[in-house]
Amino acid sequence: MKRFFLIALIVIGLGFFKSQAQPAEEIAAIAEGSKILVLNYHQIDNKNNPLAVSISNFDAQMKFLADSGCITITPNELYAGLNGEIDLPPKPVLITFDDGYIDNYTNAYPILKKYGLRATIFIIPAFTGVYPGYMTWEQLKEMEQSGTINIESHTLTHPKLEELPDDEIRTELLNSKNLLEEQLGHQIEFLAYPTGTYNLHIAGIAKDVGYKGAFTIKYGVVDGGSNFFALERVPIFNTAQNTMKDFYERIAWRQSFEEFGWIKK
Ligand SMILES: [Zn+2]
Repeated sequence: MKRFFLIALIVIGLGFFKSQAQPAEEIAAIAEGSKILVLNYHQIDNKNNPLAVSISNFDAQMKFLADSGCITITPNELYAGLNGEIDLPPKPVLITFDDGYIDNYTNAYPILKKYGLRATIFIIPAFTGVYPGYMTWEQLKEMEQSGTINIESHTLTHPKLEELPDDEIRTELLNSKNLLEEQLGHQIEFLAYPTGTYNLHIAGIAKDVGYKGAFTIKYGVVDGGSNFFALERVPIFNTAQNTMKDFYERIAWRQSFEEFGWIKK
């Protein structure tokens, strides 16, 4: 019986050690060299919605990134880094949000500021200041002026691009760029495809109207082999339980540690 307890203690102890040691090692491995973790959020709110990460979970995730020594970058820095124009920091992370929900301003922005992290929000300008639940131009300007947030384009009206004729795809991509530039007073050079859907044809139009790159929801880590118009992201969703464990698994870019053994070498 004593032996049983001893073994149980060792197993529990190992479990504790594993859960403590994994995330920092994993993030170091992910962020090593030219691999860049791009996170994709939508809503930060306490609602029962798969797209809404709770405020406390988001706070814990941002604290983890800050404590791990991750340095947040902008899409322009990612672009310049991959092109060899600048040296990226040792653990670069690009935090992105799609759609421009109001909770990005009320809930996410204060947490990002608290931890000294920056993020990029892909905005649908036809919704901005029009629909309740979306941010206003004043809020976008305030967040940009603080240096915490960088705004880029998520098309004009968030359509399914692959179902549109060419002239309408062009209008969606170009008019959103122009409208955002006019309102915010800086160049808009990056796009997130609505619903993540893209193809070579849409990517070609994006390039043609002046974008330097575009983000998908293709699950992966950006590196030197990535296509600038099909950049990978890691989506972070609301999960029912143990979200930090789910978060670690997500950012480690695999389904579960158990499947592969816990040490990644
Ligand atoms: Zn969207």
